[in-house]
Amino acid sequence: MKLANYLSGRWQEGQGPGTPLTDPVTGDVLASVSSDGLDLAAALDHSRRVGNPALAALSYGERAALLGRIAEVLSSHRETYFALSLQNSGATEGDASFDVDGAIYTLKTYARAGKALGDARHLNDGATLPLAKTDVFQGQHYWLPLSGVAIFINAFNFPAWGLWEKAAPALQAGMPVLVKPATPTAWLTQRMVEDVIKAGILPEGALSIVCGGARDLLDHVEECDVVSFTGSADTAARIRTHPQVVARSVRVNIEADSVNSAILGPDVTAGSPTFDLLVREVVREMTIKTGQKCTAIRRILVPQALADAVGQAIAEKLAKYPVGNPRSTEVRVGPLVSEAQRSAALEGLARLGEECTVVFGGNPDFSPIDAPDSKAFVQPTLLRCDRGLAARHVHDTEVFGPVATLVPYQDAAEAIALARRGRGSLVASVYSDDTDFTTRLTLGIADLHGRVMAVNSEVGNQHTGHGNVVPTCLHGGGGRAGGGEELGGLRGLLFYHRRMVLQGPKAVVDALRARGADAALLTA
Ligand code: NAP
Repeated sequence: MKLANYLSGRWQEGQGPGTPLTDPVTGDVLASVSSDGLDLAAALDHSRRVGNPALAALSYGERAALLGRIAEVLSSHRETYFALSLQNSGATEGDASFDVDGAIYTLKTYARAGKALGDARHLNDGATLPLAKTDVFQGQHYWLPLSGVAIFINAFNFPAWGLWEKAAPALQAGMPVLVKPATPTAWLTQRMVEDVIKAGILPEGALSIVCGGARDLLDHVEECDVVSFTGSADTAARIRTHPQVVARSVRVNIEADSVNSAILGPDVTAGSPTFDLLVREVVREMTIKTGQKCTAIRRILVPQALADAVGQAIAEKLAKYPVGNPRSTEVRVGPLVSEAQRSAALEGLARLGEECTVVFGGNPDFSPIDAPDSKAFVQPTLLRCDRGLAARHVHDTEVFGPVATLVPYQDAAEAIALARRGRGSLVASVYSDDTDFTTRLTLGIADLHGRVMAVNSEVGNQHTGHGNVVPTCLHGGGGRAGGGEELGGLRGLLFYHRRMVLQGPKAVVDALRARGADAALLTA
């Protein structure tokens, strides 16, 4: 079966045999994808000419209602999506829920929040400015939705959430979407798009998909398009510097990889509630989606005196996580999505091995449960690096799997220095009952981290999770993490708008103001 692409308002098959999508546990070929021979320039043109005006004819409130209907359609096919996640990604039920339910929840959140913008189709930004001696001539800033197409180039690890966390704010803002999912796990994204198209919710041209290679896609981008990329820093650099992207000043958002840290405060004692909160979160982050999360904890910064206790506590918990074929009921950790990902993870582990000792796992030949022939498994592995400041790979190698490294620190200044060695991360979490320590840490790393999650014994289990991206809060990080910003509630709509100022007669300023919603609603 070759998965069809939905471009220029019709289902189209790419030429040739295509690239196979496989089951990482059984090795079975499930489907193939191909973008060969497709007219991607025409597809983008169709989205701009047909999809954009159709969405622009609707108000923010009407578009919010469409998102709610998309969420309903996706909810009605949830079981199918879980089955596809199992087959194509080797996802356990929990892993599939993280992706699929996360997508549906994000859509519902935007559907609810977007109602606040009501009948408007643009946003008024700030107060009217006096520009003359009388009020005859004034200035007013506005945010206008862009008239192009939003192109999403996505990573393999979130085939569901990766599409909808971007599409919700884009469609809400009035921009049509063309998504190119990562090839290895494209099936789930393709099926979701198919279900939404079949349901006839969105206007023609508002949603398109191309599966397989990106080919010449970026050669046809224009100044009113946006490109939103999620994936590795290497690919990000190629996209950012694509000649057409540069020549047409196309706005690009990058969500790249990141070597995130969890930091334990020096006030914490072994076995205390706050200590346990860190241990539980590290194990959760190493095991959910088999560590294939851009936000996963990669470095665990702990006071020198607690390093042994933390290592032992994490190792004890990891030992209780059966790894293997997610079709077995006892299994809690599945495979990586492909043999290629396993090879990349083992390469990364070898690099980290130059600077680290093994606390738990690390056996490349371990036997996963009920998956004798699979070559996609990596044993959950905890490493330890005692010379953190002198190390290099620990801070710049993202092993995209169930791997984390314990790094002892001497004092708060060293903890800050170590976290900053990641050169920009999506998230850091701090576990401490000392408000001064947490405040100092937060300020010390804030300019390089899009999100800091602080936990103390009072918060306990009520926190949202180190690796969970909450749609009402910002997702993105500086430096190596790509420098992008997504979500943050209705703030996420701004990427799909451009700010301009009108300097003109009061009557025109007033007329436009009367039709706009207050941009302050985005941050309300
Ligand atoms: P990747 O290899 O960089 O690929 C990402 C996407 O880019 C895929 O759709 C890929 O298509 C496409 N691509 C590759 N080369 C391209 C080119 N020259 N022009 C246009 N598109 C191109 O990343 P991945 O292996 O799929 O994803 C894993 C990485 O993503 C991890 O490092 C992870 O940290 C990061 N990630 C970040 C976030 C975040 O929100 N910050 C979220 C998830 C994942 P093909 O698949 O067809 O090659």
